[in-house]
Order: sequence, then C-alpha cells, then structure tokens
Amino acid sequence: MTSTGNRKDETIVNALTIDVEDYFQVSALAPHFPKECWNDTPCRVERNVHRILELMHSHGAKGTFFTLGWIAERFPKLIRLIAVEGHEIASHGYGHQRASDQTPEAFLADIKLAKAVLEDIAGCDVRGYRAPSFSVGLSNPWAHDCIESAGYAYSSSVYPVKHDHYGVPDAPRFPYPVGKGLVEIPITTVRRFGRNWPVGGGGYFRLLPYPVSAWGIRKVNEDDRRPAIFYFHPWEIDPEQPVVKEASAKTRFRHYVNLERTESRLALLMQDFSWGRMDEVFLPALNTSA
Ligand SMILES: [Zn+2]
Repeated sequence: MTSTGNRKDETIVNALTIDVEDYFQVSALAPHFPKECWNDTPCRVERNVHRILELMHSHGAKGTFFTLGWIAERFPKLIRLIAVEGHEIASHGYGHQRASDQTPEAFLADIKLAKAVLEDIAGCDVRGYRAPSFSVGLSNPWAHDCIESAGYAYSSSVYPVKHDHYGVPDAPRFPYPVGKGLVEIPITTVRRFGRNWPVGGGGYFRLLPYPVSAWGIRKVNEDDRRPAIFYFHPWEIDPEQPVVKEASAKTRFRHYVNLERTESRLALLMQDFSWGRMDEVFLPALNTSA
C-alpha cells in the first residue's frame, strides 16, 4: 500500500483519538462476554497500546486516549506511560455500558468513577469524555448534563451519521456548546449529496480503501478549514485476537474485516497528516471565541 502522496499540511493539526478497551468489551460482542467473565479473559490491550505508542512516536504524532476506568485499574503503568509520552488521558467511562442503556443516575456514577480513577492513576486532570458506541443522542438528552456535572470540559460522543447502532444524522458537524461550560466535539464527517458521510475512523476505515479516508480528512481541512477527528481501537490492529464464532455474520464482518491492514493504514495516516491531542487542537480555539 502506498501513501496518497499528500504532504503534511502543517497549518492544520488534526486530533487522533484512541478508545482504549479490549476486544471483549466491544458493545457488539457484549452478549458473548458478560461482565462477570471479563476478569477471567486474557487481555490483549496492553501489547496493542504499546504498538500504537511506538507507531505514534515514530511519526511524531500526539493524541488523546479515551480510556476505560476498568482498563486503567488493571494497567496503571500503561496509563502513566501514555501520559509521560505527552498524550492526553481522557475518559471512555468505567464499564463500557452504552449511555442509552443506563439511567441518568447510573450513567453519572459510571463517568464520575472513571474520571476519579483515571486522574488518580495518571496524576493529571481528565477533561474529555467519549461515550461507548457514541451513545449520546436524541433518546438521552440528559446525558450531556451528566457529563457536564461530572466535571468534564468536553464530550466527543456524537457521530453525525446514520448508522444502525448509533449516530445523530442532523447533529452539527463541528464543535457546539451543550451546556454552560460543556462543548460537544463530534467525529468528522464530509457533507456530500445532502447527507453526512463518516470519514473519522472505526469500521469504515478498515472496510474502505485508505484513500477514501485521506480524501475526507483533506476535504475537511481544505474546504471547511477545520481540524478533523479520527478514532480507532487497540483491538483493530490485532488480527490474532480470538474470533467469536458465535457472533452473527454481520457482527463478525464488522469486527474482523481487514484487521491485518489497519496498522499499515494508520502508519500512512500518520505520515500524511499532522496529529495532536483533542484538548490542544480544540479547546484553545473554543475558549478564544467564547
Ligand atoms: Zn468503546
């Protein structure tokens, strides 16, 4: 695979984000891995995050690691290493339950606990939160209130696309206020043919050829003059992870397609664009305009 020939556009730094969870915590596989068995399932997240850190280091890329409290408690050294290497530690909640599957009280308790655990381990302020499976939407307008009252400064929990498991197709494509002090920073899309198309990572990045994502990010940088946000998971660079044969054909396709290609595609992405942390890419501009 070759680069798209793009030269790094030094005028725009995009935000690289990693949702730190293990393969058995993915929402689509949840029926096959009840929480009671997490402790007995061998983790692969540590080695995968080490590979990501090496890849980022070799390309001079910085990013934001939205980390589960559950993972941080088991791998505190890993969390401190991420922070020491200059990346932002942010929260992906504690137990990876969709916001839309919880009561407001349970959701608030989960995201407060995750913030406290992560701050204690990393020794720094945790300002960002991303809901599992982008599960903040029209069905739970209270979620942003909870995120604000838990003390976060920004949320990156909305994907303004149409998808069967998540998405708010009509949500704003760029950062917007959702409370007195909270801002929502949605995952990147491009606007074509009257609708938003996902170019910000996840399964689409593995399914579609690399130039599609590169084209989308460049379009947002050049046409919208905005930084893009890209996200992926440590398990997406791990083709040797155990396969859940009992999952449906659709879930298996989505989870396992092109896992063996993701790492080399990420290398291209880091080579072709400049990458930084969410708090450094977005918060200064928002504070200035406020
Ligand atoms: Zn997740």
